[in-house]
Amino acid sequence: MSTSDNDKQTQPKRIAIIGSTGSIGCQALNVIRRHTDLFAVEVLTANTNADLLVSQAIEFQPNAVVIADETKYQQVQQALAQHDIKVFAGEGSLADVMEMSTIDTVLTAVVGFAGLKPTLRAIEYGKTIAIANKETMVVAGEIVTRMAVRKKVAILPVDSEHSAIFQSIVGEWHNPIEKILLTASGGPFFGKKSDFLETVTVADALHHPNWHMGRKITVDSATLMNKGLEVIEAKWLFDVAPQQIEVVVHPQSIVHSMVQFADGSIKAQLGLPNMELPILYALSFPHRTADPVPHLNFADHPTLTFAKPDPDTFVCLRLAYEAIQRGGNMPCIMNAANEVAVAAFLNRKISFLQIPEVIANAMNTGLFVDKPSLDDLLQTDAEIRRQTIDYLKNK
Ligand code: NDP
Repeated sequence: MSTSDNDKQTQPKRIAIIGSTGSIGCQALNVIRRHTDLFAVEVLTANTNADLLVSQAIEFQPNAVVIADETKYQQVQQALAQHDIKVFAGEGSLADVMEMSTIDTVLTAVVGFAGLKPTLRAIEYGKTIAIANKETMVVAGEIVTRMAVRKKVAILPVDSEHSAIFQSIVGEWHNPIEKILLTASGGPFFGKKSDFLETVTVADALHHPNWHMGRKITVDSATLMNKGLEVIEAKWLFDVAPQQIEVVVHPQSIVHSMVQFADGSIKAQLGLPNMELPILYALSFPHRTADPVPHLNFADHPTLTFAKPDPDTFVCLRLAYEAIQRGGNMPCIMNAANEVAVAAFLNRKISFLQIPEVIANAMNTGLFVDKPSLDDLLQTDAEIRRQTIDYLKNK
């Protein structure tokens, strides 16, 4: 950070958003648009959505933009020719721009494994990380947290549940966490059984009751793999054992998660289901920034309910606990298979219930590495994707 914890900042914090054209990226830009005295945009990136990247760049005038899809380079470069904005293309550039000395904070809003390399490069170059890209923590939590400690880099959670946990432990640094109560909306199929899930469609799975998010995370929420990924993310972010993380279904998505301490007290963070709140908190930390988004009014939400999840029906949650218990590269195997399976489901190649089947197959057949290096994880990801695509061809 450019200011000490006790001082109000005098210069806008310079933010790089990797994945600015997605759901989190666009919401982060809404936050920045409301607080230009506090935040300035330094880098924006997209995968293929050149049109949106260009219009964001023209509005926010970053120092640089990256389009991962190299075939779109000319289009972006020509559209921004009249502006003083550097244009880069390719997956490698996504990590290379993280070295820019002008960046203070990197918001990782890319979806999937693609977030890993740029996040590691940003940590290596001492940038504060506001992490939305949970897959990075899932596949390489140990490597990421070890490097962050070595580089004295803060990793601030953006995911609403992890932001709630973080907000519950601020000021509790010397009091160990007894248990994390990780809340889950339950997704669109809460309470349903396998016979119902057999026939659900892509449109059904994309119809989340409380949150409007990118397609991959919305399907993950429907299978409860999203909660499984969050259990693993929480393990690494808060240095707890998987048995200390209990998933609690809370369909109203008002209590964003809770922490129980040794004396039995439980602290929670509550708010309306709106990602702009945890994004603003991560960008503002350690301060709280006054913001005009609608605030929670208890009287409007008289009923808050809590229930146990059903891991026998929503097998992905059980697979995620199994992956983190087995350790090594198993979460990476699980994540790669899940990314391929979700894409196949979205492309209507497999059914909803085949998603956990595909992941379980990868976890049973993938080559296990007990203490993986970064190269091992990169290899695991590539190999499991290849194997899973082959497995799906024979379905
Ligand atoms: P989206 O699919 O909406 O957006 C993904 C972003 O990443 C887009 O900018 C996309 O570019 C870019 N991108 C995708 N693939 C690549 C790639 N291979 N290389 C470079 N850039 C890529 O996702 P979300 O915003 O929903 O989610 C982003 C992350 O945040 C995920 O890890 C998710 O789990 C997490 N998260 C999301 C929440 C939400 O409310 N959406 C809540 C909590 C966590 P393009 O537009 O060009 O395709």
